[in-house]
Amino acid sequence: RVSYVNGRYVAHRDAAVHVDDRGHHFADAVYEVLPVVAGRLCHLDQHLDRLERSLAALAISWPVPRRVMPIILAEVVRRNRLKDGLVYIQTSRGVAPRYHPFPLDTPAGLVVSAWAHSGPAAAQIEQGVRVVSQSDLRWKRPDIKATGLLPNVLARQSAREAGAFEAWLINDQGVVTEGSATNIFIVGPDGALLTHPADNSILAGVTRGNVLRLARNLGLEVGERPFTLAESLRAREAFLTGTTMMVMPVVRVDDTTIGEGRPGPLTLRLRDLYQELRRP
Ligand code: PLP
Repeated sequence: RVSYVNGRYVAHRDAAVHVDDRGHHFADAVYEVLPVVAGRLCHLDQHLDRLERSLAALAISWPVPRRVMPIILAEVVRRNRLKDGLVYIQTSRGVAPRYHPFPLDTPAGLVVSAWAHSGPAAAQIEQGVRVVSQSDLRWKRPDIKATGLLPNVLARQSAREAGAFEAWLINDQGVVTEGSATNIFIVGPDGALLTHPADNSILAGVTRGNVLRLARNLGLEVGERPFTLAESLRAREAFLTGTTMMVMPVVRVDDTTIGEGRPGPLTLRLRDLYQELRRP
């Protein structure tokens, strides 16, 4: 495997950043994960648009001009002979002695790595997965795709220990915000598709945006509005979206079965349409 670290393509086992990188000290860094399908970078502009928003929100400058990013990403894909997989991009505020205020005249850091990934297990997609609810303990700006993911890590670990696939994060008002690494959709009792609005309290997933567009193209009734955990337990269908799992049906939330306990028709339709969208 080959990775890119601050201007060099290096063997992955030697790919390292300095101990004084602010990503390491303060999680003062942002990231992206994007899919590679048949050797091609998918939804590249959407991911670079989001990276630009994350960088701007934290006043980190582009580590290289934006127009150079696709060249570096394609080169990492090429050097790894990657067909189907994921590319990881991380940009930090750079290397500086540990001191909280922004350093002056320090260039931003950039690392890019890639690995093969063939999506979730077929059985999970066919049968659907179980999720558990957890308190949303994150800071108030999860719309910025920053690397400080400790609450997400802890929530996902508890989900795993409970034998569940994902944690649904619930805020102090009882609203389902998103998963630890996914966005959440439900089909309400009236048949409308619902997902949390893309405000400051969730990460606006690229997959979420594409699934919303596909649903609107189908003429479905779509609402971007908050819904509570209680409401979600009465849903006809539920699913997760994210780069690594695409559209993943949810059949159980805590101890409640969703709908008939198997992936619903709308979920399956959107899953198929989304898979087609990714195909070259
Ligand atoms: N929500 C969170 C908290 C995430 O970390 C992610 C992806 O990593 C998503 C949602 C899904 O975003 P995307 O569809 O862009 O992968």
